[in-house]
Formats: sequence, C-alpha cells, structure tokens
Amino acid sequence: MAFVVNATQLPLEDTFDYVIVGGGTAGCPLAATLSKNHRVLVLERGGLPFANPNVMTREGFLPILTHFDQFLSPAQAFTSEDGVPNARGRVLGGSSAINAGFYSRADEDFYKRSGINWDSRVVQRSYEWVEKAIVFQPELQTWQSAVRDGLLEAGVEPYNGYSLNHSLGTKIGGSTFDSSGRRHSAADLLNLATGSNIQVALYASVERVLFAPSYSLASRQNAIGVVFHDLVGGHHHAMLRENGEVILCAGAIGSPQLLLLSGIGPRPYLSSWGIPVVRHSPYVGNYMYDNPRNGISIVSPVPLEHSLIQVVGITDSGAYLEAASNVLPFSSPAYSVFLRPSSSPLYLTVASIMEKIIGPHSSGTLRLASTDVRTNPIVRFNYFSNPVDLERCVNGTRKIGDLLRSRSMDDFKFWEWSGTDFRFVGPALPIDQSNNMVMGEFCRRTVSTIWHYHGGCVVGRVVDRNLKVVGVHSLRGFIIIIVDGIRKSHPSPQQMAGNGMHQYHPQWPPAPAPAAPVVVPAPPPHSHHSPMSMDNRLSGDEVRTIFISGLPEDVKERELQNLLRWLPGYEASQVNFKGEVPMGFALFSTPHFAIAARDALQDMVFDAESKSVLHTEMAKKNLFVKRGIVADPNSFDQSKRMRTGGDYTHTGFSSPSPFHAPPAPVWGPHGYMAPPPPPYDPYGGYPVSQVPMAAPPALPSAPLPAPSSYMPVQVLLVNTKDNPPCNTLFIGNLGENINEEELRGLFSVQPGFKQMKVLRQERHTVCFIEFEDVNSATNVHHSLQGAVIPSSGSVGMRIQYPYTF
Ligand SMILES: Cc1cc2nc3c(=O)[nH]c(=O)nc-3n(C[C@H](O)[C@H](O)[C@H](O)COP(=O)(O)OP(=O)(O)OC[C@H]3O[C@@H](n4cnc5c(N)ncnc54)[C@H](O)[C@@H]3O)c2cc1C
Repeated sequence: MAFVVNATQLPLEDTFDYVIVGGGTAGCPLAATLSKNHRVLVLERGGLPFANPNVMTREGFLPILTHFDQFLSPAQAFTSEDGVPNARGRVLGGSSAINAGFYSRADEDFYKRSGINWDSRVVQRSYEWVEKAIVFQPELQTWQSAVRDGLLEAGVEPYNGYSLNHSLGTKIGGSTFDSSGRRHSAADLLNLATGSNIQVALYASVERVLFAPSYSLASRQNAIGVVFHDLVGGHHHAMLRENGEVILCAGAIGSPQLLLLSGIGPRPYLSSWGIPVVRHSPYVGNYMYDNPRNGISIVSPVPLEHSLIQVVGITDSGAYLEAASNVLPFSSPAYSVFLRPSSSPLYLTVASIMEKIIGPHSSGTLRLASTDVRTNPIVRFNYFSNPVDLERCVNGTRKIGDLLRSRSMDDFKFWEWSGTDFRFVGPALPIDQSNNMVMGEFCRRTVSTIWHYHGGCVVGRVVDRNLKVVGVHSLRGFIIIIVDGIRKSHPSPQQMAGNGMHQYHPQWPPAPAPAAPVVVPAPPPHSHHSPMSMDNRLSGDEVRTIFISGLPEDVKERELQNLLRWLPGYEASQVNFKGEVPMGFALFSTPHFAIAARDALQDMVFDAESKSVLHTEMAKKNLFVKRGIVADPNSFDQSKRMRTGGDYTHTGFSSPSPFHAPPAPVWGPHGYMAPPPPPYDPYGGYPVSQVPMAAPPALPSAPLPAPSSYMPVQVLLVNTKDNPPCNTLFIGNLGENINEEELRGLFSVQPGFKQMKVLRQERHTVCFIEFEDVNSATNVHHSLQGAVIPSSGSVGMRIQYPYTF
C-alpha cells in the first residue's frame, strides 16, 4: 500500500474531497469506498499494525492490552471514572486491530430502531464486501466446544451452527483471525481502495476541525478542513475541495472529543475551557454507554488452546454469554482483561466465561481532561445506574451458573477431598444464585468492560439521520454501531458515496493556486509601534501578517487568539498597546491566508456592548514569533510585550499551537466551578447492601486552581447519603442571597433540563429541578455536586435526589 505514508511526508497544506479522521474500523472501509470516485485523505494517529506480532496474533491480545505507553502503543489505556480499566485502538485498523476478533451482523430490529436511513440492499452488499475480505469461520477446540455444548444444555437454544446472523440461541460466530491465527482488521480493507485517489497518513493526530468564519452562531457553520500534527510536531492543514466533507471516524471517545475541541458542544462548557463556540450542541459527550461484562475464570486441569471469543449464547433475558481461554503468565499482575489481577508466580491455563448485557440503559458522560487531543477525555459510564441493566446482569450471571452445572463442564473440575469442583481464579459466583440481592452485588463488585463503549454523538441529538453533525455543513460523524453490545454493523460505506451528499458552499475556499502578489498597504498612522520584524521562515518579502485595529481597550490577547485560531493558516497573534489603544497583529502561514483573514475580519463586530468593530489591513512586516521574544524589543510597550508568547507552544509540540493551558475542567457556565466528582459510589444510590470495592481515588485536599472569573471552591461537598435516583434533583446549600437568574443560567443549559422551581424560605433558599430522564439528572448530580455559585457565597451547593416528588 504505497499510499500509506508517515504524516511527516505530507505537505503542510493540501486539498481533498474527503478528509477522514481516524483510520479505524469505520474509517478504513469508508475511505476505500469513497476513493473509487473521490480524492480521499485518511488521518490516523497511530502506526501500522502489520509488523507488530502482538497485534497480528491471538496470543498478542493480552500483551497489547497490558503494555501501554503514553503516546505510541497500539492500545491507549484509560480508566473510566467508574474505576473500570478500558482501552481504545491507536493504530491503523483502529480497535479492530486490537480486539477479540468476534464478528456478527446486526439484529434486524436494530435497523428499525437506529434512527438512521438504511438501504437494506446496500447494507447487505456492505456486509458481504467486508466478510469476503476479513471474516473467517473459526475451528472450535476443547474449551469453545465445551462452552457451546454447555450452553445448549443450559437451555440457550436453538443451536444455529456457524452463523453471521444475529438470532436467539447458541452459535459459532465469525472471526477476523484466519485459520493460521493471523489477525485481519479494517486496515486490510484499504487493499480494496483505488490507490491513485487515496492517501493514508500515519502518526497524524487531528487537533481540530476548521470552520469558515461566520458572523452568527445561529447560522449553519461550514467545516472547511482540519489541522493535524505529525510525529515531529509539524502542523498541517488538510482542506476541503468544493462539496467535500470532513468525516469523523475517531471512535466513541475520539469523535466527541474532537467535536468539543473544535467548538461544537455545550456552550457554557466550551467557554469554561476557553474554546470558542462554533455551534452550541448540548448533547455532545452525553449518553456514553458501555456494556458491562461480568464473569468467572477457572484454572483448567487439562491444557487448553488459546482462544478468544468464538461461541456466543444469545439469551432471551437480555444477556449474552461468551468464553475465552488463555495461557497466562501469572508472574506479573495479569491486569484486568478477562481476569482479575493475581500475583501467583505460576503459569496457568485459565478459562473464562463471561456475560454481557444488551443495551445498556445506563449512560454517562465524556468531558475533556485537556485541550491536548492526545490526552484521554474523562469518561463515566454509570454502570447499573439503571435497574434494568442490573436485572439483566443478574439473569446473565445466573445463566453462567447453569452453564457451570452442565455436564460439558465436568472435565474442567479438579478432584477435591469432597468430590470434584472448579478452581476459580478471582471471584466465584455466589452460592445462593436465587437471591437477587446477592447476585446484584456480584454484578456491581465484579463489573468490567467488554470494550463496546459507544455514544457521545447520538443520532437525533448530535448527528441527524444521515450522520451529519446537526447545524454544521460538511461535517459528519461516521460510526460503528454497537447494537445490544454484541452485534456490530458497518454502516454501509457505499451509502456515503452514493447518496446523502449535499452542496457545500465554501466561504473560505482553500488556496490551491500559488499566492497572488501581495499588495502591502501602509499600516495605519497609529501603528508605528508595530513590533514587526522579518519572519525567518520565509525568504523574500512575503508579508503574511495582518494588522487589526478597533479592538476594545480591555481586550485580552487570549480573546484575539480565540477569534483567529479557527482561520486557516493562523499561526500566532499579539496585542500591543499604544497608550490605551490596543493593536492586534496576526501571522498566517501564507500571504494568501493572511489576505483571506483580513477580508473575513473586516468590519466584524468584535464586541457589541462596547461597539467595537474591527478594521483590518495587511501589516508592513511580519510578526516575529519565537517563544516570547519579539525582534524589536524597543519598539513597543515592554510591559505588554508578547503576553502570551510562551503559550504558543503546546506541551510537547514544537510549533505554535492555538491552545493554552486550560482552566480547571468544569461542566457549567462561566461563573461556576465544579469540583472533582465525588468518590465513586458503586451502588449508585440503589438499595443494594454494600460490599467492598476498589478504593476510590482520593479527593484532592487543596481546592482546584480557579480559572479567572470563577469563584474559588472553598468547600468540597461530597454527598454520600442520598435517595434513589429519579429525574428530579433537590439543590440545597444555596445561601440567603442566591440569585435565581444565576441558578437558572447554570441548570437550564444542562442536557435534559425541563423545569426549575425555587422555594425561598426565611433564611435560605432551596430549589427543585426536573429533567427529562434519570440519566440527565444523574449526570448533573455527579458533575455539579459542590459547585459554587457566586451569589450564594462561598459554599458549594448540595445536590440530592429528593425523598418524594
Ligand atoms: C480490546 C477490545 C476488544 C474488542 N472485541 C470486540 C469483538 O470481539 N467484536 C466486536 O465486534 N467488537 C469488539 N470490540 C469493539 C470494536 O472493536 C469497536 O467497537 C470498533 O472497532 C470501533 O470502531 P470505530 O471505527 O468507531 O473506532 P476505532 O476502530 O477505535 O477507530 C478509531 C480510530 O481513530 C483514531 N483516532 C482517534 N482520535 C484521532 C485523532 N484525533 N486524530 C487521528 N486519529 C484519531 C484512532 O487511533 C483509531 O484508529 C473490542 C474493542 C476492544 C478495544
């Protein structure tokens, strides 16, 4: 595949019909298909899978999931706020290059419920296209055969043999490992691409989507390209041709993260990070789901093959049963993959049976941890916060009990003095499996992940039924859909190429032609303090800096950067003062971009209140940017010189970046600061008697640094006693002088908000807030617990579920 190159080899700017962010399970087949008729660029932050033996073999599954590094390993580890370790693919082929290789088609019912426009013939063709290339029939050996037989004995019927279809009963599913145990992944599908039309860049981390400048947040925004960095920190722009699209295929964690970093998300939340809002989209990062996995592992008295998931039992009670067998080196902590850690120095053959539930109904949130795209966002799945999920888990674990009692499992028991029994590694199933309470406790205590996390950009809220980001032209999210936690469907790539395209009217066309000769107007008379010098990156006299006047007197450099950084080619900016009059300078990568920026900003209303309207001109010389140094130190007011000079350098990158050290993460509008979430409550408020869980992360003893305009948090309130979750929240600790508008401002923008009722009492005020559903209420319960509202004084509010409502 000669079209797969290291991103360092790409030009700093280029144009494409489609820019696909993420060369994973969704991105690769989509790119291959679109390349038939269009010029396509795939940007993948990871490297090649083919030369890595751990990626390419079944035996490598565990090592890949247990050996991580921060930026380059094919799997990127993360632990959700629920305390469950998890992983995401970071390699060409995405998570399909590190997963367990089990393949199944989607359930028929899924198409009806998905909210997406499907063409069933195209879906069928797409399945066949994928299956022909990378799906194989596995040959069952000892453990998988015994599980198949045991499932049938346990009543998971009928037996459907080898089948790629989803149907109740027991079946052997497809595998992306071939008969010699070699992995095939979505990366293989690039072999089906039209080589002359496609470029795949490795180690290309997309930092954000670029939008054409717009004067109004209400109007539809236009995506015009993306900015990405390569391994050596070079920044590249991949711009769209007319009618082109940016398609986000960055996975369930990466896609909402990129939307947020690009300014599409809840307005107050974005503002709290200093990210300019391109589109207020309150549900980005909401409704994050992960299918809980629970199960048991046993030591086998007989040697077992190394098998990942091949057989599945699809029950009618909302749970699926699967199995794996691994030869595990127990000398080092085996980490929680299919097993709980152990420190035994033995090598053991371990077999696992697990159940996972359909759905799930419980959902959580994704929030930014940093504006560095390489850093995992913070996710929380709220496992079992919906009682239906717990009930399904109890059904599933009970079925594991039935399976263990089947005759097919007898061969895996050891002789004991009292008879034969299993030797469990990690927790065994409860003895009294008829007791719902005890089984529920087991589910909560042993919850793990099956790595089917999804959501964050849900259809109907963030993307429409054609997967277009609502309110934005030329930007789609393309997703792998996980239905009921098992059935995976590749939404047909052909559908993308065939229909659903719409007209894109670029307001900011990329610059295909060589730059026009630049006419450099003389700077305005008051600009003689301009700190300009010749930039050392370009030879000759190409001026690519604009001069901006008309800024309000109290303008901050950061505000100017926030305005400019979405413009193609933007590199750096600076505000200088002549007396009280601010003068802005902005450097672009080419004169063409500078001219375009000059025209786009001309006469823009910068601040309606202070009636400041921008006036822009080409500067005489280029802005010199070199980490806080300005070429002519005497030419302007020293005290205000390059106030953000050092900030231009992104952590770890050597070239200028628009992002700055972020304020402490908050989930609320300006003026409110949420403390870190309360300690993990594994019982989520449900009436389940408590059993020990992994220790929650300790709360920081010192208050978080408050971003400017935020009230410092003086009291961290942790609400440990609470009533069962419902869709209404009680807010206490609001103080005597709480401003109702401030309260409303905070809560009315939270996803799912319905209504608010404030009750003023003699000395204090309380408030009840109703949400559309329990999940929305639960998310606010977690994210705003202890937040300080300025008018309430310095005490954080207490959020509880009310006793009755
Ligand atoms: C350990 C594990 C086991 C699993 N087992 C199975 C299984 O047996 N069967 C099954 O059906 N499913 C399984 N899954 C789930 C399945 O693999 C995923 O649901 C599916 O691969 C997701 O596809 P995707 O295209 O949405 O994301 P991915 O395949 O993860 O692709 C996203 C890609 O985007 C890239 N990316 C992210 N952000 C950026 C950025 N800013 N710039 C550039 N690139 C970026 C990532 O590096 C990645 O390559 C498993 C998952 C894991 C992790």
